[in-house]
Amino acid sequence: MNEYVASLMEDVKVKNPAEPEFHQAVQEVADSVSLVLEKHPEYRSAKILERTIEPERVILFRVPWTDDQGSVQINRGFRIEMNSAIGPYKGGLRFHPSVNLGILKFLAFEQVFKNSLTTLPMGGGKGGSDFDPKGKSDNEMMRFCQSFMTELHRHIGPNTDVPAGDIGVGGREIGFLFGQYKRLANEFTGVLTGKGLNWGGSLIRPEATGYGAVYFAEEMLKTRGESLEGKTCLVSGSGNVAQYTTEKLIDLGARSVTLSDSSGVIYDEAGIDREKLAYVMELKNERRGRIKEYADKFKGAVYTAAPTPGEANPLWNYPAQCAFPSATQNEVNEQDAKNLLANGVYVVSEGANMPTVAEGVHLFSEAKILYGPGKAANAGGVAVSGLEMAQNSMRYGWTRQEVDDRLRMIMTSIHDSCVDASKRFGREGNYVDGANIAGFLKVADSMLDQGVV
Ligand code: NDP
Repeated sequence: MNEYVASLMEDVKVKNPAEPEFHQAVQEVADSVSLVLEKHPEYRSAKILERTIEPERVILFRVPWTDDQGSVQINRGFRIEMNSAIGPYKGGLRFHPSVNLGILKFLAFEQVFKNSLTTLPMGGGKGGSDFDPKGKSDNEMMRFCQSFMTELHRHIGPNTDVPAGDIGVGGREIGFLFGQYKRLANEFTGVLTGKGLNWGGSLIRPEATGYGAVYFAEEMLKTRGESLEGKTCLVSGSGNVAQYTTEKLIDLGARSVTLSDSSGVIYDEAGIDREKLAYVMELKNERRGRIKEYADKFKGAVYTAAPTPGEANPLWNYPAQCAFPSATQNEVNEQDAKNLLANGVYVVSEGANMPTVAEGVHLFSEAKILYGPGKAANAGGVAVSGLEMAQNSMRYGWTRQEVDDRLRMIMTSIHDSCVDASKRFGREGNYVDGANIAGFLKVADSMLDQGVV
């Protein structure tokens, strides 16, 4: 089976050159799924894994727009429609200068298995643009979103492909995108999730990814008869996922001591309480400022500039028991993983997608810590997006409590599926293999049922 995975990976690298993040994501899934293929030759003869690696459709388009000075700007737009075996394509849009085809393919590939784990009927997709939202006015943001949607609208729909937010795409951007879709399609429909509450959004959607990552950590801790209460936690990022991870940690009596952005890291030994978190939300969501200001505002907080790429991040080098990487892919390098383990971290619940490099994942597995990979731990966001779609179809809205209860139930069910699958295939306690296998099986069986398409 190792030979099969090696030859598959060779093909993937030849066919998809210069896409290291995509190779990394495929390698991890292929390693786990090889345990299944050994026992189930029917998946191998139907080339299920080979088919899941090839996107069903890739859309690449020009996004021209005019800045506030009247100059014409051009960005690249993408939508990867990866797999629709179990439902319409579903996955976020990312606006960040680092966006390219390989990064979106890795995210779309991960999304297929993550969505399968949620128990809801959603296929996998991802999209976005290399547009940089930093420093843009509201009007520039609106013009960009309108131009982006002018092309994207012909490819999506409530029963075809339902995008949501991701890095750089929050409530403001979803509003501009939805407005333009509605205007072009002449229909009011649940074509995007993460919508505003007044126009079809779901309660708890903004909170869902962060809350879900914390619920997942609680479930992992429960297997050792422990809880988050009193634990010291490291959280990276300061965007949507980091903010609501911090909020839920406060709710559950943990002490969260770090946040970051691409410029630097803050460490607040006293803990980030509700008042400090409210300051961060205003700083990041309204003033769109830098996290450094936190250290100017609150006595005792220490600011360190971001490390140069490849170096260890000081954020992962503080004493703690739990870590919630919530910024971006590969933000935990091998040295960071070593530092985390050396400083006492034994719970890692990933809010971000693939934030740990392969060598780091290996170290966590060897150390047998409670390591919840992104595709399981951060599935709460897309799960509540699925609940938003259900509410839109019913033209009805659930209460905050109802949605939060369902989110909790879904996170528990994802946790239990990972544990069951890892046990069934002889990898007990390994959430990486558990998540990949449980996510794969549902998609693979559906693909078998639907023939060679
Ligand atoms: P936001 O744009 O709200 O926040 C992103 C945060 O990460 C910001 O603090 C940003 O800093 C930082 N960041 C982004 N890129 C880099 C980088 N290259 N280096 C250092 N810091 C960086 O995004 P979200 O919170 O929504 O997303 C965070 C992660 O969670 C992503 O991996 C995303 O894919 C994942 N995720 C998000 C979901 C959601 O529902 N939103 C669902 C599931 C996963 P700066 O402002 O300086 O760029």
